[in-house]
Amino acid sequence: AIAPAANFIRNIVERDIEQGVYASRRWAGGPGDAAMQASGQPDPARIRTRFPPEPNGYLHIGHAKSICLNFGLAEQYGGVCHMRFDDTNPEKEEQEYVDSITESVKWLGYSWEGFGDSHLYFASNYFDFMYRAAETLIEAGHAYVDQQTADEMRANRGTLTEPGKDSPFRNRTPAENLALFREMRDGKHADGSMILRARIDMASPNINLRDPAIYRIRRATHHNTGDTWCIYPMYTFAHPIEDALEQITHSICTLEFEDQRPFYDWLLERLAESGLLAHPLPKQYEFSRLNLSYVVLSKRKLIELVENKHVTGWDDPRLPTLAGARRRGYTPEGFKLFADRIGVSKADSWIEYTILEDCMREVLNESAQRRIAVLDPIKLVIDNYPADQAEDCYAPNHPQQPELGKRVVKLSKELWIEREDFMEVPSKGYFRLFPDNMVRLRYGYVVKCTGFETDADGKVTIVHCDYLPDTKSGTPGADAIKVKGNIHWVSAAHAYTAEVRLYDRLFKTAHPGAGDSNYLDDLNPASLHVITAQLEASLKDAKPEECFQFERHGYFVADKQDSVAGQPVFNRTVTLRDAWQK
Ligand code: ATP
Ligand code: MG
Ligand code: MG
Repeated sequence: AIAPAANFIRNIVERDIEQGVYASRRWAGGPGDAAMQASGQPDPARIRTRFPPEPNGYLHIGHAKSICLNFGLAEQYGGVCHMRFDDTNPEKEEQEYVDSITESVKWLGYSWEGFGDSHLYFASNYFDFMYRAAETLIEAGHAYVDQQTADEMRANRGTLTEPGKDSPFRNRTPAENLALFREMRDGKHADGSMILRARIDMASPNINLRDPAIYRIRRATHHNTGDTWCIYPMYTFAHPIEDALEQITHSICTLEFEDQRPFYDWLLERLAESGLLAHPLPKQYEFSRLNLSYVVLSKRKLIELVENKHVTGWDDPRLPTLAGARRRGYTPEGFKLFADRIGVSKADSWIEYTILEDCMREVLNESAQRRIAVLDPIKLVIDNYPADQAEDCYAPNHPQQPELGKRVVKLSKELWIEREDFMEVPSKGYFRLFPDNMVRLRYGYVVKCTGFETDADGKVTIVHCDYLPDTKSGTPGADAIKVKGNIHWVSAAHAYTAEVRLYDRLFKTAHPGAGDSNYLDDLNPASLHVITAQLEASLKDAKPEECFQFERHGYFVADKQDSVAGQPVFNRTVTLRDAWQK
C-alpha cells in the first residue's frame, strides 16, 4: 500500500495545537455547547472544523474529500466537526437535500456529536446575529447603504489594473445609513433598489475588498425563517460570522475563496473591535478541490442529468453522487483510503478515476466474500455423470481469510459455464475448454471436452464433457492430472437466475465538456448493461447492500432499492482489474 499523501492543513492544525493558539478560547455566545457556556470554562474541543454544504443538491465525490478532511481532522486531534447547513440563500434550498446530505455524511461514518452536544447547525438560525453585526458595522462607520444601480456599481468597481471609484453614497453618516438599513429590513424599498456594502477601500488591489456587498433586499420565502426577512446576508459576510459564532478554529474551503480571505479577516476583526466577537478568531485555509476524470462534479450538471432523465435519479449507481456511489457498492472505507491517498494541497490537478476504483478494489478485496456467478451462461453437460445425482463441493469464502470457512456448492450433471470459457477452435495460449482439452471445474473435478452443439446460426448452445472421477478438489491424488485451465460453474438445477447490472463509466471521455463541447455529448451510450445471470444458490439470500466478489469477474453489491427478500438484484461495483480501454 502507498503511504498517505501530504496534507498541509494537518501540519497547521498540529502547529496550532502545539502552540496552544486556541487553548484559552471561551464561548462567544454562539449555539450549542450549553454546558460549556454555563461553565465559563475554555472550550474543551482542541479544534473545531465544519462541513458547510448549501442544501441545494446531493453530495458528490468532491464533497467526500472535504468531509474526510474536516471530520477526519477533528477525529484525529480531539476536536469536533460541525455539520452546518449554509442556508442563507432563500431560494433553491429543500428539505430533501438536507435529509440526503445528513444521510451521506453518516454513511461515510462520521458524527457531529461531541462534548455533550449535537453540532448540527443551520446558518439561517444566525440571521438575528448577522443583522446585529451589520448594524454594528454601520455604527462604527464600516458599512453604508448604496443606491447606485447594479450597472453603476459594476462600472465603478474598476478592474485588475484600475482602481474603483467611490460611490456618491459612500459618505453618508452612520445615522443616515442606520435609518436606511432599517427601512430595507422593514420592507420599505424594492428588491435591488439598494444594498448594504462594507466600507473598506475602492482602490484595493484585491477587488474583493472594494466595498463588497453584505446585505441585499430579496423578497423570497426562506425554508426556515419563512417571510420574517426580506433582506438576506451575502455568503461572504455570512460565512465568517457562522464560523466565529460556532468557535470554529480552522475554516477549510476550496481555492476559489482564497481572494476572499482578506475580507474574512477584516470582518471578524471589526466585529471583535466592537465587542461582538472575541479573540482568538477562526482562520480560513484553502485547498484545491477534487477534479476527477470521467466525472462531472458540479451540482448544476448533476441536477441537469437527473432532471433530463439521463440517469434514473440522484442515486443512480452511475452518478458520482454519494447516494449513487453507495448503491453502486462503493464503501466509506474506500473513500477514506482515497482521501488519504490523494492528500490535500494547493496544487490544482486532475485525479484519475482509476485511483478511486483501485481504492474500492483494495477495500473490497479484504471485506467481500467470494461467490460464483456465471454472467454469460452456456450449458456444460457432463455425459458420464448420473442424471439424478448432486454432490457437495466446498468453496472457500475468502482465500486469504480461511477462518471465514467454506460453503457448499452443488455439482450435478448439467452446469452453467461462461460462454468465453469455451472455444470451438482455440486461439494461441487458450487453455480453457475446447474439444479434447481438459480443464478443472474449480472446487470440483477435471473434465475433458468431448464435443458441442450449435443452433441454426452456428452459435454454440451446449458443450459436452466427461469427468475424471479421481480428480475432485480436496481429495487425495486430485492433482495427479495437471491441467492449465480452471473455470467456474454453477449447477443448472440449483442456480439462482438473477438480474445483474453491469455498469460502465457514465462519460466516455476523461474531461466531459472540455473545450467548446457540451458535456452531454460525451455521455457513454453503453454505461449500463442489464443481464440475466446464473448465480450460485447462496446468493439468493444476499441482503441489500451486501458486497461480494464474483470470482474472476469483480465486486458486486445487492442493490439497496430493487432487491426483494429471496430475490436480490446485483450491481457491478468494479471489475477485478482495470478493464477500461483508452
Ligand atoms: P458546486 O460548485 O457543485 O455547487 P459547492 O462547492 O457550491 O459545489 P457546497 O454545498 O457549498 O457545494 O459545498 C460544501 C463544501 O464542500 C464546501 O466547503 C466546498 O468547498 C466542498 N466541496 C465542494 N466541491 C468540492 C470538490 N470538488 N472538492 C473538494 N471539496 C469540495
Ligand atoms: Mg454551489
Ligand atoms: Mg458553495
